[in-house]
Amino acid sequence: MLTGYDHLLFLFGVLFFLTTIRDVAKFVSVFTLGHCITLVFATFYKITWNYYLVDAIIALSVIYKAFDNNGGFEKHLGMKSPNLLIMVFSFGLLRGFGLSTRLQQLPLGDDKTGMLFRILSFNVGVEVGQIIALAIMVLALSGWRKRESFKRFSYASNKALLYAGVFLLAMQMHGYWHDSHPDDFRFPAQEHNHAHEDMEIESEKANSGRDNLE
Ligand SMILES: [Zn+2]
Repeated sequence: MLTGYDHLLFLFGVLFFLTTIRDVAKFVSVFTLGHCITLVFATFYKITWNYYLVDAIIALSVIYKAFDNNGGFEKHLGMKSPNLLIMVFSFGLLRGFGLSTRLQQLPLGDDKTGMLFRILSFNVGVEVGQIIALAIMVLALSGWRKRESFKRFSYASNKALLYAGVFLLAMQMHGYWHDSHPDDFRFPAQEHNHAHEDMEIESEKANSGRDNLE
């Protein structure tokens, strides 16, 4: 799935307390800029990384923002919360890297102009999906913010967001360990599904990684 619900959870956390369209536009632009940079760069230079680890860090971004929204940095760590613009930009960079890994599984060819065209059209698809999802979230949040229940439930909502992040992190780490240390598990990988099995990690490893090891 191109839009990926996990980074949308992060953006939901970012949007949670943004009240002006100006702020929304600012943070969304920075996030978009970040993922465009790494999407183009990593695809051109054929840099990939383990999907599970990329998504594990996306899960961490959800945990971070939910923790931050509930004032966790001041309350529990006695420090100011990290600069949001820098954090959003950094996670945008990471997101582009994850997208590039996905994109590189499609046949891109070696002709540079054609490749750039394919990267950009892939990016437009991602962008359209993201803008639709963001517009729905902004509308829903601004409607909710006017109601009494927003104040009452915003702490609980961010707590739920945090647990969702913890769950995603556990799922990605399980997938990573099962993928890289299959013998450490008592139950075989065939008996359950992992998040990225559609991306044929096994066959890719068989083609590239194993040759290097031997
Ligand atoms: Zn497993």
